[in-house]
Amino acid sequence: MGAVALVRISGPESWAATRAVFDGVKAEPTARRAYFGKIWDGPLVVDEVLVTFFQHPASYTGEDLVEIGCHGGVLVSAKVLELFLRQGLHLAEPGEFTQRAFLNGKMDLTQAEAVMDLIQAQTPLALRAATEQLEGRIGQETQAIRASLLGIAAHLEAYIDFPEEGIEPTIGLALAEKMEQARQRVNSLLATAREGRILREGVRLAIVGKPNAGKSSLLNRLLGYERAIVSEIPGTTRDTVEELASLRGIPFRIIDTAGLRQSEDQIEQAGIERTHQAIERADIVLHVMDATENETVTPLTSDKSEVIVFNKSDLIQNPKSKIQNPISCLTGEGLDQLVETLVAATGAWTSTERDSLAAINARHQACLTRAASALKTAEAALRNHLEPELVAVDLRGALDAIAEVTGVIDTEDLLGKIFSTFCIGK
Ligand code: GDP
Repeated sequence: MGAVALVRISGPESWAATRAVFDGVKAEPTARRAYFGKIWDGPLVVDEVLVTFFQHPASYTGEDLVEIGCHGGVLVSAKVLELFLRQGLHLAEPGEFTQRAFLNGKMDLTQAEAVMDLIQAQTPLALRAATEQLEGRIGQETQAIRASLLGIAAHLEAYIDFPEEGIEPTIGLALAEKMEQARQRVNSLLATAREGRILREGVRLAIVGKPNAGKSSLLNRLLGYERAIVSEIPGTTRDTVEELASLRGIPFRIIDTAGLRQSEDQIEQAGIERTHQAIERADIVLHVMDATENETVTPLTSDKSEVIVFNKSDLIQNPKSKIQNPISCLTGEGLDQLVETLVAATGAWTSTERDSLAAINARHQACLTRAASALKTAEAALRNHLEPELVAVDLRGALDAIAEVTGVIDTEDLLGKIFSTFCIGK
């Protein structure tokens, strides 16, 4: 239920089907103009609506497209939809509108994926990255790399056509250097994979420590609102609680865990077991100690980044002289510094010279990794004066892998996989 519901129809029959039930346009509609009128089911009025017609190719899908803004009641919009289904139109599959946009050349595959990233973005940074990708940042760069490799491929073909002449050494060297430059560009894109994963999935941050150290209080502080139960009884957080917080624009999945201690209570033991799992799966472990307890620090992990803080610094005098990273969930002391430390611990966005926020996703990463390795082999073959045919085989492999990023080469499998994750109507 909402104020307005949008029924969207795409395909050559869109307008004819609309005109059959809508009375707002007498002659042919002017494209991109909103018309007010009624939708009829035989003699009955279904709704008063606003209808906009988009003429191909100037529409989202590249086909004739109609948008009907009806009232947002569940029944009203379902009824409007039904009138179209009755005329033989079918319901869109998940992502079908965007799939058609791709197939009609309105966008490349990276842009189609960006539509999904945009919808799912949970923090300002994730949103900006998605917008830049939607503008074509990743697509343009991969296309440019591909164009330079195609130039090299054309050169090699010429040698293949005249097999009696091997590749002239100076030309071979020049081609190898060009190839290396292309590989470096691929590597620069690959370097954004970590950021890409963080923006899309969030950094997994597990808050761990003894009961009563202040883990739940810290989670609430980081979230900026109350979510976990805070209490003075040790062992309250028996299950793990997971929340999404935006810290400096970066999405963090913060997991509050059951306090670590020896326990006879079975439910609590299960919670502690989950804490160990949360530590396993975390990208960063935030280890909370109680500053009043004078304990020595024993790190909980050896293989991942662990940030140790001493909470309740308000209860001891002159904390900075006694402990590292003092914080207080009560007064807020040290929390800004902690957020800085956490952002730095993600290891992302360390190179400030990067001019774009767009960051590749796991699929791009797989394609580009294949491309980089094929390029490396091709380059070595050139430098070792191997036959041009051998160089060409690997170069072709690299070209295919890069083409998959933007979908210049499409396999049905690949498309099905990508668009099935979309929501219906997108
Ligand atoms: P958890 O068991 O580690 O999740 O700890 P809680 O967040 O439930 O906190 C345990 C108790 O310590 C509660 O009574 C909190 O109000 C208190 N507490 C948490 N942080 C601070 C702090 O910075 N200063 C003081 N004085 N008390 C705190």
